[in-house]
Amino acid sequence: MHTAQRVRRINPSPSTAAAQRVRELKSQGLTVLDLTVGEPDFDTPAHVKAAAIEAIEAGETKYTPVNGTPRLRAAITGKLRARHGIDYTDAQITVGGGAKQVIFLALMATLDEGDEVIVPAPYWVSYPDMVRANDGTPVVVDCPETDGFKLTPERLEAAITARTRWVVLNTPGNPTGSAYSTAELHALAQVLLAHPHVRVLTDEIYDEIWYREEPASSLAAVEPRLADRVFLTNGVSKTYAMTGWRIGYGVGPTDLVTAINTLQSQTSSCPSSVSQAAAAAALTGPQDFVRDAVRVYRERRDATVKLINDVPGLSCTVPDGGFYLLVNCRSAMGQFTPSGNRIRSDEDFARHLLDTRQVAVIHGAAYGAPGYFRISFATSTDVLTEACTRIATACAELSSSPSALSV
Ligand code: PLP
Repeated sequence: MHTAQRVRRINPSPSTAAAQRVRELKSQGLTVLDLTVGEPDFDTPAHVKAAAIEAIEAGETKYTPVNGTPRLRAAITGKLRARHGIDYTDAQITVGGGAKQVIFLALMATLDEGDEVIVPAPYWVSYPDMVRANDGTPVVVDCPETDGFKLTPERLEAAITARTRWVVLNTPGNPTGSAYSTAELHALAQVLLAHPHVRVLTDEIYDEIWYREEPASSLAAVEPRLADRVFLTNGVSKTYAMTGWRIGYGVGPTDLVTAINTLQSQTSSCPSSVSQAAAAAALTGPQDFVRDAVRVYRERRDATVKLINDVPGLSCTVPDGGFYLLVNCRSAMGQFTPSGNRIRSDEDFARHLLDTRQVAVIHGAAYGAPGYFRISFATSTDVLTEACTRIATACAELSSSPSALSV
């Protein structure tokens, strides 16, 4: 079969590959502790499920408008008004099959061959591949741990060229959990104001899984002069444990939203009607689920950060939001495993954890963060505690020379 260039340019998700390896080990009867999962381990709230069932009973089972039902669009506008004080018009909103699809369509709607998209690293795995799939060129900008894994105004300025179409800002970020403060967004905005050809795609999918006192900041609210250039994306997957329902949205410039709607009309026609009813209920209904989930995530975050930082050779910073830790494992590079294999990369280190201690994590290079690995704490404290004990053992078993091991 002939496969198109755009497919050959991209890679399957590394979490899919990790999931496959976990399945193989489980089929051998091993107990694998899986810290790769990118979704809440809670069930969708009961009132959200009830709204979906009601929608089915009421016959809301037909195509909806391409850009989502009026009820869901109103729920999204309401959330954004309450959260950021911004009044989006109906023509500025589009709803799709997850934030992932909305982001993909935004890139498809705007990129031509050779157009550049600035992707700060560490990044969510999908951005560079989505850019490549749509004929663009990802311009990866390293944002080291010493900068809190965040893009600085200087690095942004240096990366912008005449071909730059977009800058992607994921805040709070996957895999780092780092979020941009209002002051940091303001500083980036000053650079962007001087480059009117550059648009900003903000991915705020983790904005409610948030641990700080002051609410998460959003570029569109921080600098209203950028309002016609910011495309804000979000969804219900992470906040309401609704990953399988596939509802995400994007708000921003009308010309972009119209182009996305045209693409959507020729691809999926519209998102699932039943899922849209559920998403509207999630956004407008009681929010105690979110508060309770964040309390649990926070406890797990604090416990896991401490356990990891207690392991000699490993370290991690405390995430502002989301449910991931990006763990620095650079000191393991060059060390030898008990079977004499040299750890040359974070991928080797992740393989060592999985093969010797059956702990599944995702290696950092997949996120543009070599020398790190990602842990998801969207799993029980028991699993996290046991996994950290096993990780500590796997680290203690490493040695600086292969000979020391052949006893
Ligand atoms: N953006 C980031 C940073 C994510 O981590 C994910 C999911 O892992 C998504 C977007 C996709 O979310 P959705 O389920 O709405 O497609």
